Amino acid sequence: MGSANNSTQPSRLVGRLAPSPTGAQHLGNARTYLLAWLSIRARSGRLLLRIEDIDSPRVKPWAAEQAIDDLRWLGLDWDEGPDRPGNHAPYFQTERMSNYVSLLEQLRRSEHVYPCNCTRSDIAQAASAPHAHQEGPVYPGTCAARSSRDAETLASPYAWRFRLSAEPASYRDGFAGPQELDLKTLGDFVVYKSSGTPAYQLAVVADDYAMGVTEVVRGDDLIPSTFRQLALYRAFGWDPPTFYHVPLVVGTDGRRLAKRHGDTRLATLRREGIRAETVVGWLAWSAGLLERPQPVRPADLLAEWDWSRIRRERVIWNPAILEDWKR
Ligand code: GLU
Repeated sequence: MGSANNSTQPSRLVGRLAPSPTGAQHLGNARTYLLAWLSIRARSGRLLLRIEDIDSPRVKPWAAEQAIDDLRWLGLDWDEGPDRPGNHAPYFQTERMSNYVSLLEQLRRSEHVYPCNCTRSDIAQAASAPHAHQEGPVYPGTCAARSSRDAETLASPYAWRFRLSAEPASYRDGFAGPQELDLKTLGDFVVYKSSGTPAYQLAVVADDYAMGVTEVVRGDDLIPSTFRQLALYRAFGWDPPTFYHVPLVVGTDGRRLAKRHGDTRLATLRREGIRAETVVGWLAWSAGLLERPQPVRPADLLAEWDWSRIRRERVIWNPAILEDWKR
């Protein structure tokens, strides 16, 4: 599988920050945003801010604005976003629905998708990125023999599932290196929910392509999703961006950062008077960019930036650090 390589044309590098306003942004999210920002800014590329708000029951009314405040507080900026409209507006996924609908239509015509009326929890969950432990069971292919026109005969609500070929696939990750997966371990995935909402997988591909995104930096728990997204890029005949999957921040129990690991919400840290520079310094040290955790602004790290310096191990967050910051 090819990947877009624009390294000889720095001005055409485009990255994105894509928070989901389903809750507060925490330290783990901040680390990924910082790396995404540095990778683009160090090579004078452009950054977009996109709010991934299609998961309607889970979206919180306050969370988009808070995420924007969090990013600004950290010292990150972007060239286009809800507050700075440019050529790629709109920046809320809920305002980009017509594009998802026409892409679904395209997939229906090419028989890449089929209607599925199985009532499974993975249909319900499809609107959000499947982060660690959210992959769910592999779809057994119950409705796969249908053609897209069979939708007209279905009485019960149906989702649209993408027909994934059952073959080994591979791609080269810009950070994590060569990745391989047998696609049958993923199973056919939902691209449109029966409620008429696009799934994360379709929306993210549609937007990254429409917005001219050339690199995607995100947590390595989304590597399985990358194989689904690459299948969508192929179905549409589009060149995919380069993917950089970075290690997650985990608690001392080895699990993805969550409430049980203490309150690491950026809004809370901010309210408690902790300085953004302290947080960024710890994140940069955890990534291998600083010898020791010392206060810095993201812009101070640009001169030192190099993907080859970034540590490959998962980052362990110890709540004792928070007590230290409060002192
Ligand atoms: N909005 C998604 C999330 O926060 C972004 C996933 C992605 O970068 O593709 O989980």
